[in-house]
Amino acid sequence: MLFPPEVATSLLTVLECSRCHTPYDAAHPHTVSACCGVPLLARYATAAAPPRTVLPGREATMWRYHELLPLLDSAHRVSLGEGFTPLFPLPALAARYGLRSVLLKDEGQNPTGSFKARGLSMAVSKARELGAAGCIVPTAGNAGVALAAYCAKAGLPATVVMPRHTPVAFREECYWYGADVQLVDGLINDCAARVRELNAAGHLLDVSTLREPYRLEGKKTMGYELAEQGHWQLPDVLVYPAGGGTGLIGIWKAFREMQALGWLPAHARLPRMVAVQALSCCPLVETLAGRQPNCQHYQGRPTIANGLAVPRPLGEALMLQVLAESGGTALAISDEDMLVGMRELARLEGLFVAPEGAAVWMATRHLLATGWLQPHEEVLLLNTGSAQKYLDNVLGRYAA
Ligand SMILES: *Cc1c(COP(=O)(O)O)cnc(C)c1O
Ligand SMILES: [Zn+2]
Repeated sequence: MLFPPEVATSLLTVLECSRCHTPYDAAHPHTVSACCGVPLLARYATAAAPPRTVLPGREATMWRYHELLPLLDSAHRVSLGEGFTPLFPLPALAARYGLRSVLLKDEGQNPTGSFKARGLSMAVSKARELGAAGCIVPTAGNAGVALAAYCAKAGLPATVVMPRHTPVAFREECYWYGADVQLVDGLINDCAARVRELNAAGHLLDVSTLREPYRLEGKKTMGYELAEQGHWQLPDVLVYPAGGGTGLIGIWKAFREMQALGWLPAHARLPRMVAVQALSCCPLVETLAGRQPNCQHYQGRPTIANGLAVPRPLGEALMLQVLAESGGTALAISDEDMLVGMRELARLEGLFVAPEGAAVWMATRHLLATGWLQPHEEVLLLNTGSAQKYLDNVLGRYAA
């Protein structure tokens, strides 16, 4: 079925420094806040928002929440049908481990095969609205593919800078969309350095994670969907694979916005948020454990979960704040264990999840074994991507 675009309105008011709350005019492009050098957050006139009863019947994409999205004119919308991904129970896994309820939101069903579609749909739409000449991104893989696709749709040039060791499917797809692909020896932080060189003149809009405020707004729609698809009941625990952290920060932002909107009760109990990382790149886990003051000097190594190979996330402080506010935690999973999780999800539930999604399931098993998660609690797994692009990393590993 085809849905006509909604007559969209946005209640965006200002951008705000995430540390000191200084407001910035959203009519201009921004990077991090000029005052503190930290991410900017979009704010909305929540008091003017409609009740949640307007939602049923709206289009089955993330744009159904347009009042709480920053695009001012829907003529600039660049959409490939992102969002409103399925949320379903995993009864076989739950039964095997004695859990009452395990739910999975399958972001692998998004355009270009990952939840990066949400953020890049939004960022490229805003790039168009703000008159950008093109976009550039450092990426571990999925963000680059999504940027390339949405820029193709928007008729904007895209430059994608990714590690040379990224599975071939990621860069091939970028070429098909006509993107300029640059390969770099190293991880995403090395790609970020290359982006700064390539874009020294600032002709392109740099859509690096949390360096512009709009990818976060796309990703937060996962939080809105979780509430709406769960009939406004949230799970006890939400397990998320954290790299740059936009998903974790965005989902929490959505929960807080829905409380302000009255879509959730002001004192609703929110899920404990769990950030899952890869053992070979787990800066958040190290900082949380007090083994380093912050991630600024953390050295990461590659992992089969490419999206988790983010050694120095700009959003570290915001992620830690989400974990603290929600009573959550962070833990790291080895690549070998991710393969175990991929096999289990594939064989018991028919899901070919990205290693990041498998890490989330293995983290859940660990939290259950240690008693942090109780069998009667409802746990929600976010599978952020499809395994199909990761075949180079997991070829032949289907047998234990
Ligand atoms: C980018 C990515 C992540 C990490 O997401 P953040 O929101 O940056 O923390 C996790 N999984 C997959 C598949 C990704 O592509
Ligand atoms: Zn500030």
